[in-house]
Amino acid sequence: MTWVRGAAGSGYGVDHLPYGATEHGLWVRIGDFALDLGAAEEHGLVHADGALWEPALNRLLAAGQGTWRTVRARLTELFTDPAHRGIVEPLLVPVDALALRIPFQVADYVDFYSSEYHASNLGQILRPGQPPLLPNWRYLPIGYHGRAGTVVVSGTEVVRPCGQSRPAGADAPVFGPSARLDIEAEVGFVVGTPTQLGTAVSTGDFARHVFGVVLLNDWSARDIQAWEYQPLGPFLGKSFATSIAAWVTPLDALAAARVPAPVQDPPVAGYLREPDRAGYDLALEIEWNGTVVSRPPFACMYWTPAQQFAHLTVNGARLRTGDLYASGTVSGPQRAGTGSFLELTWGGTEPVTLAGGATRTFLEDGDSVTIRATAPGPAGSTISLAEVTGTVEAASQSGRTWSG
Ligand code: CA
Repeated sequence: MTWVRGAAGSGYGVDHLPYGATEHGLWVRIGDFALDLGAAEEHGLVHADGALWEPALNRLLAAGQGTWRTVRARLTELFTDPAHRGIVEPLLVPVDALALRIPFQVADYVDFYSSEYHASNLGQILRPGQPPLLPNWRYLPIGYHGRAGTVVVSGTEVVRPCGQSRPAGADAPVFGPSARLDIEAEVGFVVGTPTQLGTAVSTGDFARHVFGVVLLNDWSARDIQAWEYQPLGPFLGKSFATSIAAWVTPLDALAAARVPAPVQDPPVAGYLREPDRAGYDLALEIEWNGTVVSRPPFACMYWTPAQQFAHLTVNGARLRTGDLYASGTVSGPQRAGTGSFLELTWGGTEPVTLAGGATRTFLEDGDSVTIRATAPGPAGSTISLAEVTGTVEAASQSGRTWSG
């Protein structure tokens, strides 16, 4: 039990302890408060060879699982043993007072496509009359390399992208602001310890290399994407912004959320087999201008984070500290559990009604989307993953007036 007032039962109890960053330095959250980790290390309360005296989490990420666990165990002790209260409490700051920024410097960013329901829905919407899944889908976790430089922290405004798209029935494309701006609710995994170029890591190495989890919104301009994606995959339709939560939940905080992942048929290649195959029971929630429109279940993802991790390196590609890989859109079997508005409105043909009566298919300027999630914690507790939110701003004038 923690002595921090209000923390127990808040979703940010002592079993959670996510990490964040401000211009001032690193913080660990407990309840509605955060502990200044640089000050804590300076006071000799916790030791991490100076890794907590940093503007971002990267040094702690690189320090490895042993350090992650030592620091976490020590923080747990500081927040539970009343003997430490006198010195720790003055170092706590209300989280609302923090101007949070991106918690780690993103190295490479990869996005997967691991929900069978999402892949099937997109197949039906985009390739009607054909098999919903492409022939490779059950054999490997499909993914692409995204743009690390445009990963932004929760709360960052998202400017509507301009680009080329081809209107239905037209022969040639037009240029202008995206008219089909969408979201993808995903779960991102943050790589801590790197690997050597030329070596593959196995599914069993996942927890030794992956530090933690963030909710992620892969903003997607469907009209730009539809015109550009063949044959090389997503490009400008997704690279304008990818939002992540400001607090990174340590993987160790999700131990009680591990659940059996779906059985895979056909059997997967050896390097994708898992000695202890598991997904995570994260219950996502998508709020559109204040109305909850969907509740995607992460537990039903066909490809697990450990399989994505092994697939990412099977060719010898190296992992770097700060690499971020995302699960792909989290969609469950129900329409009200889909993770994109493309699916929720079935290609824009079935609008959703928000509180107050407004209807939507895709995002309008000024719209806000917030993704939240909860997970089972130890002993019946609940962990709240930090939200990822963003508001759409109108396209820039320079974009509007561009002409070819
Ligand atoms: Ca995606």
